[in-house]
Amino acid sequence: MGKQIFLSSPHMSDEGYEMDFVKEAFDTNWIAPLGTNVNEFEKELAAKVGSNDAAALSSGTGAIHLALKAAGVGEGDIVFCPTLTFSATANPIIYQNAIPVFIDSDSKTWNMCPEALEEAFSKYPNVKAVIVVHLYGLSADMDKIMGVCKKYNVPVIEDAAESLGTYYKGKHTGTFGDYGIFSFNGNKIITTSGGGMLVSNDSERVEKVRFWATQSRDKARHYQHSELGFNYRMSNVVAGIGRGQLKVLDKRVEKKNYIYNYYHKELGMLDGINFMPNNNWDKPNYWLSCITLIGEIRPNDIIDALQAENIESRPVWKPMHIQPFFEKYDFVGTNVSEKLFENGVCLPSDTKMTDEDLYRVVKVIKGLWLQ
Ligand SMILES: *Cc1c(COP(=O)(O)O)cnc(C)c1O
Repeated sequence: MGKQIFLSSPHMSDEGYEMDFVKEAFDTNWIAPLGTNVNEFEKELAAKVGSNDAAALSSGTGAIHLALKAAGVGEGDIVFCPTLTFSATANPIIYQNAIPVFIDSDSKTWNMCPEALEEAFSKYPNVKAVIVVHLYGLSADMDKIMGVCKKYNVPVIEDAAESLGTYYKGKHTGTFGDYGIFSFNGNKIITTSGGGMLVSNDSERVEKVRFWATQSRDKARHYQHSELGFNYRMSNVVAGIGRGQLKVLDKRVEKKNYIYNYYHKELGMLDGINFMPNNNWDKPNYWLSCITLIGEIRPNDIIDALQAENIESRPVWKPMHIQPFFEKYDFVGTNVSEKLFENGVCLPSDTKMTDEDLYRVVKVIKGLWLQ
């Protein structure tokens, strides 16, 4: 059997940038708590995406949690959330004892449908915040979505965990709303082994997020707390990995684009295969290359055939409103997200893949069409 090919796995720089920053932290004994790497990683990431400020946190999930808190979401509040996403987008709504209302996808973007969002606003005019996701590195239709949210004057949180390096009309995803969050989990386009970042133009709110993330310690010699605290800060070692990875982000985006184009060229003509949407406003990072199938060959046929060759692939996210844990919450829309789940496959998109690896994947898939 050939060597294992992953969907998307960690890829450190050839230059060893990560080790240089980590070594510096070790040499100065500043492995914890905070330190130069954390401060610089925040500045470097904020500059990269074009945001005023950033707070380095222990996960993307933690960043969503504190973004909700910063937006004033609390017990009993309603939050709109795309149904087609990873559960980490929705879980923090429950952490805050708030109530998610799930919004269907737009087949044009695979992300939150602006019309369904509008409908949700008319049903729940007292909604407290809206979370928008940029799935698989495709941007949501931000002009339309921001237009609707501005009309109702509701804060927007962008879950850009999968879209670092993705631009919508020349502006980086995660910088349209009041808060944006990124993830550096092991499968993301760059990784720190685990970690997250919250960005915002409102430096006061970002400072508040740092405060909450370090146990809400008031300014006093003794330990004084007037608010609930969290242990959500990133360590100085982890931030060193992040600084090194950020240096190769553009290269990773380039390789993800190469992978997408390879699949598109080799598989695009097969009957019943459609690729993820391509909008002219969008400069995607192509975190994962995804397809949908409308013919006889089903997603499981492809996933099984690849698995038999030691190659990892996955179905598209299962919508939240049909998840056992979340199905009791309301859903606004039709069946777009369910169709994407039924018909979608995420193809291996690991940036360490060689042309031979890509050829192996394509050969297995084409084989199904020859039977
Ligand atoms: C990965 C991911 C998250 C969570 O990030 P972590 O850093 O793993 O906590 C949130 N939302 C989406 C869409 C993700 O893909």
